[in-house]
Formats: sequence, structure tokens, C-alpha cells
Amino acid sequence: MTLQEAYDELAQRAKETAYLSSTMSLLHWDQRTQIPSRGHAHRINQLTFLARLIHNRRTDPRIGELLALLETSAYTTDPLTIEAVNIREWKRLYERTTKIPEKLAVELARAAAEGEAAWERARPANDWAAFKPYLERLVELKKQQADAYGYDEERYDALLDDYEQGATTSALQPVLKSLQQPLVNLLNRIKGSTKKPDPALKSRPFPVAEQERFARAVAEQLGFDFSAGRLDVSAHPFTTGIGPGDVRITTRYQDHYFNAAFFGVIHEAGHAMYHQGLPVDYWGQPLCRPISLGINESQSRLWENMVARSRAFWRHFYPQAQERFASLRGVALDDFLLSVNEVAPNLIRVEADEVTYNLHILLRFELEVALMRDDLRVEDLPHAWNEKMAAYLGLTPPDYAQGVMQDVHWSGGSIGYFPTYTLGNLYGAQFFAKARIDLGDLEIQFERGEFSPLLGWLREKIHSQGTRYLPRDLLRVVTGEDLEPEYLIQYLGEKYGRLYHI
Ligand code: ZN
Ligand code: ZN
Repeated sequence: MTLQEAYDELAQRAKETAYLSSTMSLLHWDQRTQIPSRGHAHRINQLTFLARLIHNRRTDPRIGELLALLETSAYTTDPLTIEAVNIREWKRLYERTTKIPEKLAVELARAAAEGEAAWERARPANDWAAFKPYLERLVELKKQQADAYGYDEERYDALLDDYEQGATTSALQPVLKSLQQPLVNLLNRIKGSTKKPDPALKSRPFPVAEQERFARAVAEQLGFDFSAGRLDVSAHPFTTGIGPGDVRITTRYQDHYFNAAFFGVIHEAGHAMYHQGLPVDYWGQPLCRPISLGINESQSRLWENMVARSRAFWRHFYPQAQERFASLRGVALDDFLLSVNEVAPNLIRVEADEVTYNLHILLRFELEVALMRDDLRVEDLPHAWNEKMAAYLGLTPPDYAQGVMQDVHWSGGSIGYFPTYTLGNLYGAQFFAKARIDLGDLEIQFERGEFSPLLGWLREKIHSQGTRYLPRDLLRVVTGEDLEPEYLIQYLGEKYGRLYHI
């Protein structure tokens, strides 16, 4: 067998497996947007069967044989060639998948499904006691999974790597912690400002059909291609890339609140435009994928916050919004801007503003690390949560539902996921600062409704690169610098300084 034959066989196998996972994605999308209530049991059977097929294909020993031929060959001499990148990612996936014993993989999948279902029941009832045993089991299984993956410094690192390749606790900890004091200082200055958003703006009628038309028009003008994508409604907004020419986003509308659906659509469109800019000629190979959750989140946050919550953006779009929504006709642009950039400590992460959001993540990151280090027991989690909430945001949750039980992540076994949200904010601010240098005055472009220079820049520098560079390398290649939290601090300080006159 020649090297070329070995490579082609791996590529063919990968493509066939990708057809299966893209079929799963479509079934999953349907499950969350369209399915009749009695269709769930059948859908779970379909998804479970496909997941088992995919798992068997990914752990086929034949893949190990083919990789052994290729991994030290001329195909990997230059690590940035398409072949070398694919081999790197195939090897990583094969090693990680085969390290987990079948029994543990099955137990984890079941514990995650049961955990999510238990959380769905227990959270509305504020029933921590009912949820706790599921979480205890999941935490135990995640420790076993991390130990099976193996790690150099910390057990938590093995889990982080599933979401953000190359991230480590020792590198992340000082970065996340360094945000705390500057963010708390900024928050206190904002609290002391006499400028306050008008609460009435959060309870005026915004007809849902008009919200949808407006969000579509704006997403399209930013560069989301509706001939290669869809926008639908789901209880929890998400983006899913089905395949070339098909990436789907969802949102949910409230008829008396504009911000949630509108900025949600722009957020998901940011993810979707990343998918639409991937090198689709290589679809089915690792190259044609977002490199990490953190980089993916940098795209959604950049469009949602740095673009769509900016004054320049609304100088362009506000007249259109006022024409569509009678509720906004007597509202000055400045007042509208303040209301879409309201900063206030909030118990709930998904409702948090740009300034306090990263404090929510710091709290979760520290608790996850402590759990994996055996420094914290699940039993003591609510107490530890409330202590940190008081220390970082000055708030005490009145119940479990608004405290330790608010997020879905842990209930499904996603431990190590949260830090990618803050990484997304940090990467986003750093990319945006570099784009401003390269592209000239972005504000003037936004005011004119021109977003293609920014999208073109992101396409070239980030989207079209796929998985060529690991996240921190991509950041270095694009910006010329390593991760530098100062960009986020500076962006927030300037923006909110102006908005709140502080
Ligand atoms: Zn799901
Ligand atoms: Zn996102």
C-alpha cells in the first residue's frame, strides 16, 4: 500500500463518518425545532443507533494501522499542509476515542442523558436533592474519563482539551483571574453613574413577525447567506452546521422585549458565518471544521457585541428599526443604545451583560477545577457557588434554580466547557482590535451599512483556515501576539466609559 492509498482510505472513511454525523445533526435540529411531542422516543433511538455506528467507525483498528503508516511520513513534514493537518486531527480523534473503554463511554452517554432529564425536572421545582445524585455520578465518571485520557499537570486539563485544544488550567487560571479586579472596578464605576437605562424600554410591544423580518434583514446585510442557511425558532437558541450550503440558526421571540431575540440572532449568525466561510471543498475532513469552541465563540461575540451593540451600527439601522417598531419612535438613539448595553449584576449567566459575564465564567471555572482536584464535593457545591456569587457579583441566589442549578452544561457532563465563553470574548476583542488596524475606520463603514470588509477579513484570516492552526497559534498568526486580556479590558472601558459618562 502506498502512502497516497493510505491517506485516501482515511479521507474516504472520514467522509463517510461525516455523512453519518451530519445526518445526526439534522435529526437533532429537527428534534429541537419541529418534532411532534410523541416523536421523541423514536428520535432518541435513531440518534443512539447512529452514535454507536459512529463510535465503532472511529475506533476501527484499521484507522490505527493507516495512521501508523502516515504519521512519520513525508506527509507530516510540514505541519501546515492540508494533509498534515488532517493526519494530526485524525490521530487526535482516534487516540482520544480509543482511550475510553467501551463500558465507560456507554455509562457516560447514559448518565448525561439521564442527568439532563433529571435537571429538566428538578430545576423548575428547585429540587437540588433530586438532582444531586445525578451530578455526583457524572462528576465521578468525568474524573474517570479524564484519567483515561491522561494529562501532564491537572486532571481538568484532559477535559478542557475536548473543547479547546491545547488549553491548560495553569495557563487559563491567571488569565481569567486577571479580569476580576478590572471588571469589578468598571462595574462599580457604572453603578455610580447617574446615567441609567429606561426600564420602560424592556416592556414595550415588539410584534414577533416584525422582529423576525428585521433580524433576517440585518443578518443578511451582515453577510449571513440565507440561500445556504435557515433561521427557525427553538426554546434554546443554537447553531448547527449540517453540511456545505446548509447551516441553521435558531432564536426565540418575546413579544414585549426586543433585545433577546435580536441579539440572539446576530450571535448565532456570527457562528453561522464562520461555518459558511470554512473551506467547504474539504468538507468531511478535519480541516473543514471550526478549530475550537473558543474561536467559534469569538465570532459570535464579535458580531453580537462589538458590531451590533455599537453606536455606529445603530446609526445605520436605528431609522429602519423605528420605522418597523412604533414603540421606538419616541425613543432617542442614545436612550436605545443605553438600554441594549445595560450593565447590572444579574444572577443568571445567560442574561448577563458584557461587563459581568466573565465573572460568571470565573466562578464556574474555579468550581470545576476544585471538583476535579477533589478539593470540593458536589454536596458542598451550592454553598461554594453562593460564596463566590457574593464575592464576585455581590448577589445571593434566593434558590438553587437561580444559583447552582441554572445551567444545562453540568447536567449533560460538559465540564471544561465554560472557560471557552471567556476565551471567546478575549479572542474576539483581540481580533477586533487587529481588524481595526488593518481595515481603517470600521465605525464609518458600519454607519454606512458596510460590513463586507470586516466579514472578508474574518473569512481570510480565520474562517478559511479551518483547523490549520490550534487556537492559540491562530491568534498569534492573525494578531502577531499571544493572548492579551488587556484588549478586552480596554474595549469595555472605552465603550462603557462613553455610554455611562464615567
Ligand atoms: Zn441536545
Ligand atoms: Zn455562542
